[in-house]
Amino acid sequence: MLVDVVRTQGGQAMPASLYALEDSQTPSYSLPGDLSVDVAIVGAGYTGLSTALDLARRGVDVVVLEARDVGWGASGRNGGQINPGLKFGPDIVARDLGPDAVAFSQGAVDRVFEIVSDHAIDCDIRRGGTLRAAIDSADIASIEALAREAQRHGIEMHLLCARDMASATGTDRYAAGLLDPAGGQLNPLKFVRGLAGAATELGARIFTNTPVSAASREGGRWLLRTPRGQVSAKSVLFATNGYTDGLVPGLRRSLLPVFSSIVASRPLPHHLAERILREGQSLFEIGTVTTYYRVDARRRLIFGGRGRMRDASGPGAFPSIAAYAERLWPDLRAVGWEFGWNGRVALTADQYPHLHRIEDSALACVGFNGRGVAMATAIGRELARLLIDDPSHRPILPVTPIRPIALQPFWPLGVGPALAWARLRATFLR
Ligand SMILES: Cc1cc2nc3c(=O)[nH]c(=O)nc-3n(C[C@H](O)[C@H](O)[C@H](O)COP(=O)(O)OP(=O)(O)OC[C@H]3O[C@@H](n4cnc5c(N)ncnc54)[C@H](O)[C@@H]3O)c2cc1C
Repeated sequence: MLVDVVRTQGGQAMPASLYALEDSQTPSYSLPGDLSVDVAIVGAGYTGLSTALDLARRGVDVVVLEARDVGWGASGRNGGQINPGLKFGPDIVARDLGPDAVAFSQGAVDRVFEIVSDHAIDCDIRRGGTLRAAIDSADIASIEALAREAQRHGIEMHLLCARDMASATGTDRYAAGLLDPAGGQLNPLKFVRGLAGAATELGARIFTNTPVSAASREGGRWLLRTPRGQVSAKSVLFATNGYTDGLVPGLRRSLLPVFSSIVASRPLPHHLAERILREGQSLFEIGTVTTYYRVDARRRLIFGGRGRMRDASGPGAFPSIAAYAERLWPDLRAVGWEFGWNGRVALTADQYPHLHRIEDSALACVGFNGRGVAMATAIGRELARLLIDDPSHRPILPVTPIRPIALQPFWPLGVGPALAWARLRATFLR
């Protein structure tokens, strides 16, 4: 299927997500020619723009170079769930990355709310909590263990029984749940465009339609080559996550760029909106294949999961995801699906985001494992300090070498069978 595109004012192509069709007013800026700056950032998603925002706030001369458009990557088309924490519970995160990383990843949601409020970003942000949903007994055991861990770490979470879950979700699918009241939701494209606007107001320059085709070191500076000129910079951040190409040797092979897909319904009628997550919660299911959903500010059900492992779009492009939603709420069939789109999340072998130092004056920060709304936004302030060489600053993530994943080029072959099995399990077993 051909990917539908939305033409924006600047002539850039955005994926045909609900967000892009509702808000197609992004300006585009072209690199005027060769430039010399303090810091250059490759990639205009949450990671690149939150870093640019903090650098600009400190008066650093920073440019962001984006191959397509602001938010064209995952940041402008994700599920909009602002979920606290990392993939693992606080005990494992504390063991692997240290206690500061637990506090940082839990507080990442607050950082999103802070940026939105400081810069008056209009992005339908709402704090309704993050709800983890358990389907079978193994999942119940895992959320009960997480609840105990959270309590030991002083993190507020509430266990919900099957009846509470049915009342919160309007389906009897779930055996239990765990509510983290810190979580929230937002419109991801409005947020990333708001970040770009805030960074620009503080002096950052953003150049779209500017793919960086080569990065090299010359005379102690970085030289980034683009079709419209070269950018010379003291330091560089590669913030390309699931859209990482061959720019940094080995980086693409250290990530699995797995697709996540979303279908969006027509606005729900009142009787359904009153049943499904009426308090604005963002929900994700625990399991091999994550299903996630929320109801947005216009009462659309934004329902995501794993679909095709290639670019696709349109309301009929992800029939298995839509069918699962209709199984949860049969009344949805009468409502209908209006949008469908997908995008790449970057998985890492250890399921943590990775921070790499490249020839000591460049960084790469990638691998948000489908958790970047909060983490990639919050990490910007960290990355900014590292890029301007604050010697007192100890990074929140360990700086690790780039390690290619074995057989990475064959990843779609592995994902296919795993996905098929998980779908069977989700459809026929309880
Ligand atoms: C369908 C979907 C649903 C998701 N749902 C959620 C969710 O609900 N909650 C959550 O927390 N996370 C979610 N995520 C993950 C989240 O969106 C990402 O973790 C986050 O957006 C990563 O931000 P980023 O800035 O690091 O990368 P991206 O936003 O992907 O930006 C990378 C940018 O780099 C640019 N680029 C790449 N190479 C070059 C180059 N050579 N030159 C110039 N530019 C280049 C790309 O064009 C792209 O715009 C989801 C992701 C997807 C795809």
